[in-house]
Amino acid sequence: MMKQMLGRASHAALDLLFPPQCALCHRAGSLLCDGCADDLPPADGRRCDCCWMPLARRTARLGGRLCRHCAEAPPSFDALRSPFVMEAGARRLAHELKYEGMTALAGPMAQLILARTEGPAAQTADVVVPVPLHRARERSRGYNQAAMLARAIAAGADLPCDVRAVRRTRNTGPLAKTMHREERLAIMRGAFAARPERAEGRRVLLVDDVATTGATLDACGAALLAAGARSVRCLTWARAD
Ligand SMILES: [Zn+2]
Ligand SMILES: [Zn+2]
Repeated sequence: MMKQMLGRASHAALDLLFPPQCALCHRAGSLLCDGCADDLPPADGRRCDCCWMPLARRTARLGGRLCRHCAEAPPSFDALRSPFVMEAGARRLAHELKYEGMTALAGPMAQLILARTEGPAAQTADVVVPVPLHRARERSRGYNQAAMLARAIAAGADLPCDVRAVRRTRNTGPLAKTMHREERLAIMRGAFAARPERAEGRRVLLVDDVATTGATLDACGAALLAAGARSVRCLTWARAD
């Protein structure tokens, strides 16, 4: 509680007052202990090469690499990867980062994203860009959790981070879990605008905390490509299957 109230004080001062403890098991030592990190649920199994959704058994058996959606109407981004599924400890950490003011978790979470992600999304990029929140939402929360992750990923990958490359032009509010993919896509379309002077010619690594249908990343990626970005790949902490 107290620690959250002081969330904006410097980490060094906080460490003196409150030695770091694991956000999951509360053991003293670090914000995320090795044991809890090893227990995080991996996004494994056969997954779509593009959107990282689990492949239907039949598709996987036939050696298909793309899910039905990506085969029929590919999203704007080339590939999305997330090391974890949105369950158990991965869900709790995402919640702590987003709603409980535990912004210091962005560091260890970004390290795990970089260490546990392989494939196209982890290849070279020119700039790391977070999915933006609408200004009103960011003001009420005090920070953008995706920007926290993006900055830490950029630092870890030795890349620049540009939190202003794309902005949210519409406050869409949270999308209901029951919404169909098409509904989400329709709502998100046109919700973002990218700045050409920041996007043009760049290979963008787009970062968010969680991917659900991928509609948000798709819309955000489309805005970046419309502003002249060369390519868009996405990294998120977790995939909600
Ligand atoms: Zn722990
Ligand atoms: Zn797919």
